[in-house]
This record gives sequence, structure tokens and C-alpha cells, in this order.
Amino acid sequence: MNPHNFSIEFFPPKTEEGTEKLRVTRSKLAELNPKYFSVTFGAGGTTQQGTLDTVVEIRKEGFDAAPHLSCVGGTRDSIRQILKTYKEQDIHRLVALRGDLPSGYGMGGEFRYANELVEFIRAETGDWFHIEVAAYPEMHPQAKSPQDDLQNFVRKVKAGANAAITQYFYNADAYFQFVENAQKAGVNVPIVAGIMPITNSSQLMRFSEMCGAEIPRWVRLKLASYGDDSASIKAFGLDVVTQMCERLLAGGAPGLHFYSLNQAAATTAIWNRLV
Ligand SMILES: Cc1cc2nc3c(=O)[nH]c(=O)nc-3n(C[C@H](O)[C@H](O)[C@H](O)COP(=O)(O)OP(=O)(O)OC[C@H]3O[C@@H](n4cnc5c(N)ncnc54)[C@H](O)[C@@H]3O)c2cc1C
Repeated sequence: MNPHNFSIEFFPPKTEEGTEKLRVTRSKLAELNPKYFSVTFGAGGTTQQGTLDTVVEIRKEGFDAAPHLSCVGGTRDSIRQILKTYKEQDIHRLVALRGDLPSGYGMGGEFRYANELVEFIRAETGDWFHIEVAAYPEMHPQAKSPQDDLQNFVRKVKAGANAAITQYFYNADAYFQFVENAQKAGVNVPIVAGIMPITNSSQLMRFSEMCGAEIPRWVRLKLASYGDDSASIKAFGLDVVTQMCERLLAGGAPGLHFYSLNQAAATTAIWNRLV
């Protein structure tokens, strides 16, 4: 695979210890020479400083880095301020999202959907930023239907996104179908596949429940059969995810974006099998 289409996501650490651990993780993943690292942003701005600090540190180490920016709960002024800070830091990439506020917070703020954020970024900063948006091959959990979700995705791209990264999935056909439908609907930006390595079965079930990613029955059953045998879970996860990545790349996926969860081992193992 062309390593230039390979990116890795982190979340901003909350403690000094986490920051130190992420530095170690990053130095290992840097050896893979990804195109860029991205850093998530807590909805409502809860990690705003941590996101910025992590991105600035990555860039000082000589790598390109993209802060995520979620608009839910934000105002035009607050987002404008963040964009100004990113420009001052010479940051040229963004992953633009709506985000989810914790339950009970409602939506709040002046932006309802990510397409409004993309429009705002373009209106405020022109072509300064390369903007990536989220895509959902298995449908966003709050969407009315796959068709409706696709139309919303198309609207978001047409608002000015340069590329998209998908939610993770374990069904390559869902990705291929989505890309085909998006292209038929006029989308011609790259749709990079989001990849979640499998290392921990209960964590995976919990995340997938929240974000609407389906774990195929046979994968669930196998994972359950390993119980607490972490080595077998990891070995099985490595096989399943690597095989899916191989299929995605062979089928024309323009790149892979790894949800590293601030860990180096699983992403490195998959990557080494792919190159
Ligand atoms: C690659 C990636 C990175 C992520 N990073 C983060 C992060 O850093 N921080 C974070 O908090 N979350 C992050 N998320 C999660 C994301 O914020 C949630 O999935 C959120 O629920 C939706 O965000 P979105 O940008 O896709 O929203 P949108 O594109 O706004 O879509 C949200 C829902 O609204 C519908 N919709 C969209 N536009 C319209 C419209 N104009 N009218 C009516 N309905 C509409 C869609 O069909 C969908 O159901 C990430 C997700 C992905 C895939």
C-alpha cells in the first residue's frame, strides 16, 4: 500500500502520565511514517487545549497533524477563535465533526450538523484548511435511513470537504456499497476506511454499541469463546482486521485511518502485515 494514504488517530491525554505514554506510542508509530496523525476533540470543547497541545507537539516532531473539531455546543465566536488559533499555529488540516454531547446536555450551540461547520470553516478561512469529514458505511445511529444519511453525507462534502474518513466497520461490503452509492450521488473525494484494531473484546462491544458499528456474529462468537485469553483475542483480531484491510485496499480504498486508542502494538502489527 502507498504509505502516504495511511493516518493514525489519538485522543488527547488527560494526565502527565498519559502524555508521556503517548509520546512513547507516537515514537513507535512514527516509524511507520504515516501521512499524518489526527487528534480527537471532546464535544463541547472539553479537550480543546489538550487537542491543540498534542497537535502542536506532533508537528514539532516533524509530522503533519490534524486536530478534530466538533461543533456541537459551540458558537460562531468560539469556533472562529479556535480556527484563528489553528491558523496561528500554521495548522492546515482539520477533521470537522458535529460531535455528541453527553446525554442530558441536549444539542445547544449555534451549529446543528457538521455540514454547517464545514460551510462556516470555508466562509471564514477559504482554502486554508484541508477538511476531512466523517462517513458511516453502516449508517449513523441517529439517521432516519441509509438513504437519508447518504444525502446528509453528500451535503457535507458539497459544503467543502476535501475527503472523508469512515466510522470503523468489520464488513468490507458495507464500505464498498457506501462508496459506490456516494460516487453515484456525485461525491468524488477520497473516502478513507477507518480501521479499529481488535485487542479487547468487552471494550469493542461497548464502543460498537454506542457508534452503531456491527460486529459480525461469527466474530462475536469467536471473541466470546476466548474468554479472558487476551493473546488469542489479539491474534484472532489481527487476522480478521488485516484480511479486511487487504480486501479494502485491493478493492480500491484510497487509504486507511487507524483508531489507535493511543496504543502502538495493534496498528503496527496490522501495518507490518500489509506492507
Ligand atoms: C472519523 C471520525 C472521527 C471522529 N472524531 C470525533 C471527535 O474527535 N470528537 C467527537 O466528539 N466525536 C468524534 N466522532 C464521532 C462523531 O462526532 C459522531 O459520530 C457524531 O454523532 C456525528 O458527527 P458527524 O460529524 O458525522 O455529524 P453529522 O454529519 O452532522 O451527522 C449527524 C447525524 O445527523 C444527520 N444529519 C446530518 N446533516 C443533517 C442535516 N443537514 N439535516 C438533517 N439531518 C442531518 C446525519 O444523517 C446523522 O444521523 C468521530 C467520528 C468519525 C467517523
